[in-house]
Amino acid sequence: MFILLCLLHLQYVESKVIYFLPHSHDDVGWLDTVWNIYDNGPGVKNIISSYSTALSKDSGRRFVQVETIYFKKWYEEQDIETKQMINKLIINGQLEFAAGGWSMNDEATTYYEDIIDSFTGGHTYLYEQFRIIPRVGWQIDPFGHSSTFAYISYMMGMDGQYFARIDQIDKSERLKNKNLEFIWNPKPGIELFCHINYRHYSSPPGFDFDPLRSSPEIQSNQVNQKANQLLEYFGQQANYYKGETIVHTLGDDNEWSSAESYYKNIEKLIDNINQKNGTQQIHFSTPHQYLKRLNQQNLQYSVKFDDFFPYSDNHQSYWTGYYTSRISFKGYVRQLSKEFQQIKTFLSKQISYDNIKDEDELLQLLSNHNQNMGIVQHHDAITGTAKQFVNDDYIKLLQQSSTLLDQYMRKHVSILTEQLLEYKNYEYHTCYYNKTISECKQLDVWLNQNKTVLLALLMNQNRIIKLPVPNLHYTVLDENNISLNYTLLCDNQDCVLYFIIDEDNIEETQFYKIIPSIDKHPFNTKRIQISINDDTDLSTILNNQTKTNNTFKLTYAYYVSSSDYRQPSGAYIFRPDGQLNPYGNIINSSIHYDDIVTELIIKRNDVTTKIRKYKHLQDEYEIETFLDSIEFINKSGKEIVMLIDTDIENNDTFYTDSNGLDLQKRVKNYRETFNLIDTEPVSQNYYPVTNMILLNQTNGQTVAIINDRSQGGTSLKKGQIELMIHRRIGTDDRRGVGEALKEDIDDPKCQKTNTCNNKKGISQTLFHQLVFFQNTQDPNKARKIQLREDMIALKYFAEDFFSKFNIQKNKVIPQSYLDEIVVLDEDSISKIRIEPKQQYFIVRIHNLQEVGIIDFQLPKSVQYYQTTMNGLMTIEEWQSTKLNWQTLNKTKTQIQVNSFQVQPQFISTFIILR
Ligand SMILES: [Zn+2]
Repeated sequence: MFILLCLLHLQYVESKVIYFLPHSHDDVGWLDTVWNIYDNGPGVKNIISSYSTALSKDSGRRFVQVETIYFKKWYEEQDIETKQMINKLIINGQLEFAAGGWSMNDEATTYYEDIIDSFTGGHTYLYEQFRIIPRVGWQIDPFGHSSTFAYISYMMGMDGQYFARIDQIDKSERLKNKNLEFIWNPKPGIELFCHINYRHYSSPPGFDFDPLRSSPEIQSNQVNQKANQLLEYFGQQANYYKGETIVHTLGDDNEWSSAESYYKNIEKLIDNINQKNGTQQIHFSTPHQYLKRLNQQNLQYSVKFDDFFPYSDNHQSYWTGYYTSRISFKGYVRQLSKEFQQIKTFLSKQISYDNIKDEDELLQLLSNHNQNMGIVQHHDAITGTAKQFVNDDYIKLLQQSSTLLDQYMRKHVSILTEQLLEYKNYEYHTCYYNKTISECKQLDVWLNQNKTVLLALLMNQNRIIKLPVPNLHYTVLDENNISLNYTLLCDNQDCVLYFIIDEDNIEETQFYKIIPSIDKHPFNTKRIQISINDDTDLSTILNNQTKTNNTFKLTYAYYVSSSDYRQPSGAYIFRPDGQLNPYGNIINSSIHYDDIVTELIIKRNDVTTKIRKYKHLQDEYEIETFLDSIEFINKSGKEIVMLIDTDIENNDTFYTDSNGLDLQKRVKNYRETFNLIDTEPVSQNYYPVTNMILLNQTNGQTVAIINDRSQGGTSLKKGQIELMIHRRIGTDDRRGVGEALKEDIDDPKCQKTNTCNNKKGISQTLFHQLVFFQNTQDPNKARKIQLREDMIALKYFAEDFFSKFNIQKNKVIPQSYLDEIVVLDEDSISKIRIEPKQQYFIVRIHNLQEVGIIDFQLPKSVQYYQTTMNGLMTIEEWQSTKLNWQTLNKTKTQIQVNSFQVQPQFISTFIILR
């Protein structure tokens, strides 16, 4: 019986229509830099020219364009005739834009706001240029897929999404059960149709006619035989899909630079098949045309609720290393992202106050930075899986556009200073975040020269302000000339000034004076040497109590990276060789207590940890970890983890965020939708921790860690959180990058003495916020910290020529209709983000709460309407044109909200006309 069923299952099924999707997968930087890939080799420049010319010769031909950053560059270089030709190809449906973000973003290590920005930028360009909005997702190469991406994709107005990489066991089970097409329901009301490609994103084997791979050209006497071979291949494929139409990619990495001959070879086969008078027809098509055709068949699909992490392509190969790879780059991108969001909202308000003179220049700067931020969200950029020189180029691009924006901001703050304080010609500086250290050089110089420094603080929502300063005594004045309570914590000569501001005193633009004391003797941070070991409960020490409710220990450990020939560890793949080893012995530790903060410093070889407990924050600890270069001998790399041990009985269950939004339930050695084969006990349990990881027990006792950049994380032991915080590896994992993840830099010691020419790895400072809470009483506590960390203050410094603020004059605080956008419950965990465009503002209201709908209001005096997440379609337009799909099983129950409410972990988008 079993054999018979198998035979029936594999029987040749004739599908009526076969759609070929010609496409080129053009990585936005990977083995070469973004713009070299455009110019050199087959070159994206040549590819687009080649396929568009070929399309114009035959109206039966189709092409799928994906990476908008490349298309924009190419289009700008064309003459008027070519531009007209492109417009024609778009209008007649030959050229279709899929996805349409600046790049094909990664889904594990990206933050949700950056994904939204990349799509909004790309889509806005396509809309303004061609009046089109992509309606189909195309994520054919990212290494696993996230629930939040599915949500964003759906809210951008996508009718469905294509992808290729899912866990190999999952794929074989989906093949067997005809579930390669399904409905993804990551949260209530979000039902995204998904298509998983039959054979990665390549052409059928033997039918790739690009010069890069070059299947031999089809001779006239071979056409019939080759056509039959192709039909046989599609006959097999049709066994695994439900519809009477099937679809297949035609292309690969950087293909179609010789489009005419590619089309011609395929056309020989198409003509032969279509003339056979058989039941099968084959056409060039586009991804959205396939969705429309399939949608008409009224099929029912199974429903998927969880996400597609981690991805593995064989039993030894879990792609869980890239969640952490290149920590410095990941940290830099996140820092820029936070600043960019704050700057856009701030400047939108300045525009609405009529306070911006050179708006065109400003919009151009924002647009350039948006494009570069979009480029680095690419699935071989933020992932840390590009070659070293390509990564250096990404940093250069980001530095260029962020520096220009920063210059603009500094000039603008100078204007504000004149308006608000009547201080003229103040020249501002900022502290740049560079590859390894935060520097505030100019601040240091002024303070050391006993000069008063004016601090302009924009968009601040935090009560604690931190500044790296020289070791001196200070007076910190607020705008009422009230001297603020401060402390200075020094570790050798590295000092940080901490001062607390009043919660009621939080405005969009605030000024403070930092006045160094003439008294030159250094501030004395009183530290008490204490004796601790890896088993010490740190909460009792930090709280100066014998017993607390939230016991925790902190240690570091490392895995030796596997160099096993079957699967070595590398930039993509994490494969440990054996168990954890302790990393860094404690050399000494000391503690400082005052009425603002308690700081414990633990020095180990290669790691310095500073744990701070602020007096005004309950059950929260800030962990600052300085990691020195990872040393390794020969090829044995090391992958460093931070371990937090607690008393929480988490029952093999933990939660990780999805691009900063919805927590995903993870159970050790278990997958929700398929049977996991236990082959890699550590790396198969690693998940992306883009923003937080959380453990809880049945009584609601919870611990969470909020990180400052993407990392891989898991919980392998009871009550323990394991986060991979750095990796330096001597081997390549054979997934294409062809380099070991070493991140070598010159060893300064060697340069000085000229006695050696060793390289060393990068060093880095990382921040983690650790918090304990009762999930039943305060379910939004961890989200509150996420919000605080996102809403960073923008800090600008200038030499100040006045030692006091002039309080006689009342500061005039401007108001506009944008200030009327408010979330009604002030204590709710929500964000209002505003982005300026020429004719309108995009306003997004984010509800970050785990529990609780938020209500908001919009200005009464201006016109607005609710839209898809890219701001380009009204909700009504979208609803009346979207494809709806039928499901076999029940989807998540929707919560009913009105258009001035946002449900938990959702975002509402509005256009406010200017
Ligand atoms: Zn790729």
